[in-house]
Amino acid sequence: MNISADIFDEDEGMSDYATFSHGLYIGGRWQPSSDGRVIEVIDPSTEAVIAAVPDATLADAALAVDAAAKAAAGWRETPPRRRSEILRRCFELMSERAETLAALTSLENGKALRDARGEVAYAAEFFRWNAEEAVRISGEFGLAPSGANRIVVDYQPIGICVLITPWNFPAAMATRKIAPALAAGCTVILKPASETPLTAYALAALYEEAGVPPGVVNVLTTSSPGPVTAAMLADPRVRKLSFTGSTGIGRVLLAEAAKHVISCSMELGGNAPFVVFDDADLEAALDGAMVAKMRNAGEACTAANRFYVQAGIHDAFADGLRKRMAALQVGPGTDSETECGPMITRKAVDKIDRLVQDAVARGAKVLCGGTILEGRGYFYPPTVLRDVPPDAVMTQEEIFGPVAPLLSFDSEAEVIAKANDTEYGLAAYIYTRDLARGMRVASKIESGMIALNRGLMSDPAAPFGGVKQSGLGREGGQKHGVAEFMEAKYIAVTI
Ligand code: NAD
Repeated sequence: MNISADIFDEDEGMSDYATFSHGLYIGGRWQPSSDGRVIEVIDPSTEAVIAAVPDATLADAALAVDAAAKAAAGWRETPPRRRSEILRRCFELMSERAETLAALTSLENGKALRDARGEVAYAAEFFRWNAEEAVRISGEFGLAPSGANRIVVDYQPIGICVLITPWNFPAAMATRKIAPALAAGCTVILKPASETPLTAYALAALYEEAGVPPGVVNVLTTSSPGPVTAAMLADPRVRKLSFTGSTGIGRVLLAEAAKHVISCSMELGGNAPFVVFDDADLEAALDGAMVAKMRNAGEACTAANRFYVQAGIHDAFADGLRKRMAALQVGPGTDSETECGPMITRKAVDKIDRLVQDAVARGAKVLCGGTILEGRGYFYPPTVLRDVPPDAVMTQEEIFGPVAPLLSFDSEAEVIAKANDTEYGLAAYIYTRDLARGMRVASKIESGMIALNRGLMSDPAAPFGGVKQSGLGREGGQKHGVAEFMEAKYIAVTI
């Protein structure tokens, strides 16, 4: 069944959300779960049920692995140029339908439309970038040191990949895995987050239209991710797990994958420091802070989680941040005026509230926000806290919401030590006019990514990923992203 035209029918607009939940997408067919159960999808702005998607069972997961296995040989033998053209077509179709996709992402995730538009553009870019990478995968050729033989290294697709993604970037986290996997010649099974499955299914229909053969990409949603994933990893045909999500679930999955010695790429949680030195350009630092904190209403793994501001600029920065945060328009993501949408669930709001109350009880002062917004929808207001003590729980846990905790510091050595005082190491931000200092501090902060005088670092052309307990491996970048889905085969040749 080709449903893609219906899904993107401009006349139908967004009125029929059910068109985005036709079924599990397995082997190029849309089908219900084997036991007929469904998962309800909630609009976090209103708490209303907007759709229901199938709840895959272990039997459905087995069918998905079968479909990926059946398609594997054909896809790996498809010439790189052809794979590249299909990926390019995915980019074009995503770009053409960007507005529909952004509206859908905003609806199910709650993020402001402007954030959703940014995400869809970023997500589409993974197809363009990897279309270009697909035809540039090369091998190696050299003489063994002994002179006895030649060393030939061929890079081959790793095999069937299980991809698991979170709800905070429903489009981009999926394409950041699918595009390089397909460029490498792998077939995949995507399990998107149950909170935001509609974008993943809408994209599946689009891949089909772009010419991705049946079974190359399979998508299934389930309310039992643990058993379903364990069953797929136990199948010897599956050779790769690529996961984006929390560090806690990442640890569980690493242990599960270890049972079968499966290659893992892990994009996990963060606790980004945002460091502002006295000599920083104040307005630029505030602009950057708003992006680093408020993109996606703070629901980003790269979100600034701790603001370390040097004593001489601290009060001016605190005042400027308070003014900007207090002025933000809070509302349903799909309203074009909204700048800060709802959180994903009530549980997320309660967690943010717990962290704020903990900081306040330990002596932090609320400059704006600080209490849950009453009424329907999972709203938390933009909040700035100053004098946050170093033992506040939010300095160690991901806030994942619109809360900016300010901590003051005096010296460079002190702030480097504080920035590194975390189990995480995903992203960090530094503002200073002294480029030498910026580079020096960047080299000492334990983090996979640094933004120097910028509030944003994500780019499909750059390697994205963390150190310490923020993850293993890289996504995007020259060769890095595709390399996660390939294995080196060494051939010793006597000539
Ligand atoms: P999560 O870990 O709760 O869930 C992520 C995914 O894993 C979802 O699809 C979920 O259904 C699935 N899952 C849950 N339990 C599972 C299990 N036992 N086995 C298999 N799959 C399971 O994370 P979340 O709340 O969806 O996302 C937020 C987290 O993701 C944050 O910690 C954030 O920092 C992180 N994140 C990291 C990056 C990155 O690139 N490093 C990007 C985005 C989000």
